[in-house]
Amino acid sequence: MGGVCAAAGSCKRRRGGYAEIVALKNSLLAALVVAVVAALVVVGVTPLGMSPPAPEQSAVDVFSAGRALLLLREVAAAPRPIGSDSAARARDTIVSRLDALHMAPHVQTAAAVSAQSGRVAGTVRNVVARLPGRDPSRAVLLVAHYDSVPVAAGAADDGGGVVTLLETARALAAGPRPRNDVIFLFTDGEERGLLGARAFLREDPWAYGVGVALNFDSPGSSSPVLMYETSPGNGLLVRELVAAAPHPYTSSLMYAVSRRLPIVSDFRPFVAAGVPGMSFGALDGPAYDHTAYDSLESFHADSLQHEGDTALALARHFGDLDLWDLHREDVVYFDIVDGFAVVYGKGLVLPFAALAVALFAVAVAVAARRRLVSLRGLGLAVPASATVLGVALLVMALVWGMYRTAYEQRNWSETGVVISDFYRLGLVLLAAAVIVAAYELLLRRLRPWDLAVAALFWWLAGAVAVAVIVPGASFLLTWPLAGASLGLLGAVLLGDRALHSVAGVAVTLAGAAPGVVLMSSATYLLLMSAGLKQVVTVLAVWLVAGLLVIPLEVARRGFRLWLPVALAGAGFVVLMAVGSTVAFDTEHPRFTSIYYRVDESGAALWQTTDRIDDWTGQFLREGPARAFRDAYFPQMGVRPTVVGAAPQVRLAAPLIEVLRDATTGDRRTVRLRLRSVRGAEVVSLLVHSVVGGLTASVDGLPLQGWDTTILDGTTVRWWFDYYAPPPGGVVVTLRFAAGPEVLLRVVDFSYGIPPQLAGQYDARPPGMLPGRIGDGTLVERTLRLPASSAAGL
Ligand SMILES: [Zn+2]
Repeated sequence: MGGVCAAAGSCKRRRGGYAEIVALKNSLLAALVVAVVAALVVVGVTPLGMSPPAPEQSAVDVFSAGRALLLLREVAAAPRPIGSDSAARARDTIVSRLDALHMAPHVQTAAAVSAQSGRVAGTVRNVVARLPGRDPSRAVLLVAHYDSVPVAAGAADDGGGVVTLLETARALAAGPRPRNDVIFLFTDGEERGLLGARAFLREDPWAYGVGVALNFDSPGSSSPVLMYETSPGNGLLVRELVAAAPHPYTSSLMYAVSRRLPIVSDFRPFVAAGVPGMSFGALDGPAYDHTAYDSLESFHADSLQHEGDTALALARHFGDLDLWDLHREDVVYFDIVDGFAVVYGKGLVLPFAALAVALFAVAVAVAARRRLVSLRGLGLAVPASATVLGVALLVMALVWGMYRTAYEQRNWSETGVVISDFYRLGLVLLAAAVIVAAYELLLRRLRPWDLAVAALFWWLAGAVAVAVIVPGASFLLTWPLAGASLGLLGAVLLGDRALHSVAGVAVTLAGAAPGVVLMSSATYLLLMSAGLKQVVTVLAVWLVAGLLVIPLEVARRGFRLWLPVALAGAGFVVLMAVGSTVAFDTEHPRFTSIYYRVDESGAALWQTTDRIDDWTGQFLREGPARAFRDAYFPQMGVRPTVVGAAPQVRLAAPLIEVLRDATTGDRRTVRLRLRSVRGAEVVSLLVHSVVGGLTASVDGLPLQGWDTTILDGTTVRWWFDYYAPPPGGVVVTLRFAAGPEVLLRVVDFSYGIPPQLAGQYDARPPGMLPGRIGDGTLVERTLRLPASSAAGL
């Protein structure tokens, strides 16, 4: 045989060449897997389309973000908390715009109690206007709130909503008149407990004719505007939205979870009142919302254009519908492609889940028939796959703990800005590293087929549970399970060839694609809207990895352990880069505030609820800075503070006047008038001792009382804040058990420190922002009600 291996060396080289070719092929397949999965994730997290902002000179009947931005500069020039002068200026701007459209706006002045705390109330001034329809059924109501938190100019929250309504009103008035009336409601006091919406629903006669309510309120300012909440029975609403809006963006997952997210808006009282409707917002804002970052500089015009396109299209669309009955069966809905949403009735949730389960069962049956899986193998793989999740949660908790320790001086809870997109990317990469490493270790012991079926078994358990418990979120598990089961079936038919062929990679990745895209998009949405949630991240990555067991086996053969190592390296680099570049600077501020307080004795104090820093230090220089325990602040309650002596400024103390004090049987009724003589924006009443339960009302509106028996003169037992009190004050009625002396304290609060003093101190440097309620001035007065006993006893 003149064999090819005449020379031993050449034969060896050939065998080596074959091994090299196999290794190269494996590496190429592994690279293909990584590239496709990365591309699917990118598709999932890429925001859906928005139209570019329409310029100021656009046609009169279209929504122009350019025109709306001109208005936003006026509306969001300054923070405008309820009762402030800047809120009054914003109100004047709104009224004059509506006047110019001949829409005869009126200002509804009314008192309301907060939806969240029964001990917060205020006088709101809502602006309401109506565009009469040709032949009205019921009215379309558009809502946005014009107040902001005290520290934010509120360009996004909710200046964007306000100018969306104004520009929509202008475009509607310029175009063909809709059939129905369109009511524009600009609420006040939303940030203090949805006060304006509650006052409108309780007292404004127009509230009764509303057929559909559309609320526009955005914590964020750069993402597309998501329809995140509906009234119950939303089938028709969602289908009309999808039909009418140029770029509908919505998810029944968000409807299902929004109750658990810190997204409370004016929409809630409308739902409670049984009004059908939808709520819209750009949700990319947990880091920036309610801070000084929510300003014109950080506001994005394309998000505003999307909000406006949606508002105008829906006003026109619902403006021409019969609005007498919009209730239909609830639907499941989501979109991952611009302009195309999937909508189906809740009645199909369980059949679709059953279909996915059936596809899974077929794949497993075929795999068993081909002896690719065994009962013993599955018995090991099912718990092993769950262990991967447990290990990942543990490792991520440890990493987060170390991370916090390494950058401890950062004020994590207050500086949401730290928790940027890059931070989330680092978290996802690290979680992926841990989970991929764990799966690859398991793949050395267990057969990939057993592990692939086991991972999908957990998907199945989740899909069935979610379909039953949270049907609105079911699509997130049902369709990925169906797709991955089909992919698995295809791979099973290829047999072990699937593990090292392009066909195998293609069929399993195609099956996993719906899951990877849906899960990435949902996780991004949840992290974006709810802020930092490690458990959500780890769970999502684990689920996605479970769809990719066969491709992971391909990646393991090509890259050995290099894939998890690379993921971990990238994750650490990102996290360290985020952590080490975070200093308290203009990009990442420290939140710090100063308060000027005149106490009962007339002594003036500087106080801060934050740590003493370079800026607050200048106020707290005089007199020994000392801890002070019993300082009351509206919104914050009793807070420990650091105090120092302050220069005296003549400020009138608030008045507390006893109008009635009567004891009948063992109950004492005290009626008090509270009045801020200096016209402060908030007046608070504190009761320092209560014997037995206490009930209270303000101007006839019931407040949340106190229902336990306490006798203690040192601590605040009951408190109550009233925002924007009228000049004549408010009347509070307290009923409690007759008995010993009761100590009452009234505190009034105005935004900012006294102007006479502001010039004597340095302004806040870059890198520091006012936090919570911002700087303020508080003046207080106490009143002792003498001991009482029932007459004649
Ligand atoms: Zn808001």
